Amino acid sequence: MEDFPIRTLEMVCLGSSVALSGLFYYIYRKKCKTVDKLNEAPVLPLDEKLADLLNATPGKCLQYVVVEGTVQSIGEPLRSQFQEGSVGVIQKLVLREHKLVWNSLARTWTDSERVLHQRVNAVPFNLLGVNKAFVRVLCPLEATGPKMEIVHEKFHQASYGFTDLIGQYLSGEKPKGQLETEEMLKVGASLTAVGELILDTDRLPKIRPPTDGSEYFLSTDDFETLRLEQEGQAEVWRVLACICALAGVAVLMWAGRRYYRQLKLRWEQENMRREFEMMGAGERGEEENGMDVSENACVICLSNPRGCVLLDCGHVCCCFRCYQALPQPICPICRQNIKRVVPLYQA
Ligand SMILES: [Zn+2]
Ligand SMILES: [Zn+2]
Repeated sequence: MEDFPIRTLEMVCLGSSVALSGLFYYIYRKKCKTVDKLNEAPVLPLDEKLADLLNATPGKCLQYVVVEGTVQSIGEPLRSQFQEGSVGVIQKLVLREHKLVWNSLARTWTDSERVLHQRVNAVPFNLLGVNKAFVRVLCPLEATGPKMEIVHEKFHQASYGFTDLIGQYLSGEKPKGQLETEEMLKVGASLTAVGELILDTDRLPKIRPPTDGSEYFLSTDDFETLRLEQEGQAEVWRVLACICALAGVAVLMWAGRRYYRQLKLRWEQENMRREFEMMGAGERGEEENGMDVSENACVICLSNPRGCVLLDCGHVCCCFRCYQALPQPICPICRQNIKRVVPLYQA
């Protein structure tokens, strides 16, 4: 397992960076498709000719078009619960709880937010163009956007006594209060709709979520802003995908470098062993010749001749086999670190 070129942690890092990069790339491609479709989408003027144009179109349906107009409710509009006189067609009421939570890792109180309650109301509405021409907007809640106007925002401060303080100390949570907001798409707001335009059986032009799965947009910005915003988002996903891919490459290079070093070290050791082995053959020859090796004997095993020079101290005190068996690379004579070992050649 030791010479397996990649470690578990590196494997996890590599796996997650590849997975994230793939995911981000997928989102990026999807965004690109949306941007392409937006670039191709014709902006139709909202006037009395629109119904005729649709009538002349085969299938009485235009796949992906842009229309701009002002919001007009068909029946009774929604009234703001908090702001007198505000009327709209989509209303969103949200109650959020804000509290401080003790973060034991960072040793600070951090803000935390939670949606306690949310309610969205909508009434049918039209986009009004020039000369009383209009388009009915279907399924507005399925659309991306619109950013709605905040008509009411109020923070209710939490109040607490002494016993609450003890409770907070024990639980590590301090309630700050509740934020109440009301957002509205107001009657009269200008709206850009991007979707599928149809002429229904009641001969009214209607815009609805595209049946081919393209993104349906309702935006209070103009079309150009919406398009640029989508392009910007695509770019963000592209950058994220690149960063993750680079991180994956970095992990691979890191593992590769370590593996290369391991190989190099083993190769050097192998070379040295061979060199010493060749010398060993010579030593045995000397022994056989009846030469006295006792005063030249290794200080550890006391039998083999001393065969290596330990550097940097330079001591010649042991045979190569004993050097290899040393528990730590430390000279047995002077206790200096052994940085390198070279075979001793006796001519
Ligand atoms: Zn020895
Ligand atoms: Zn030494």
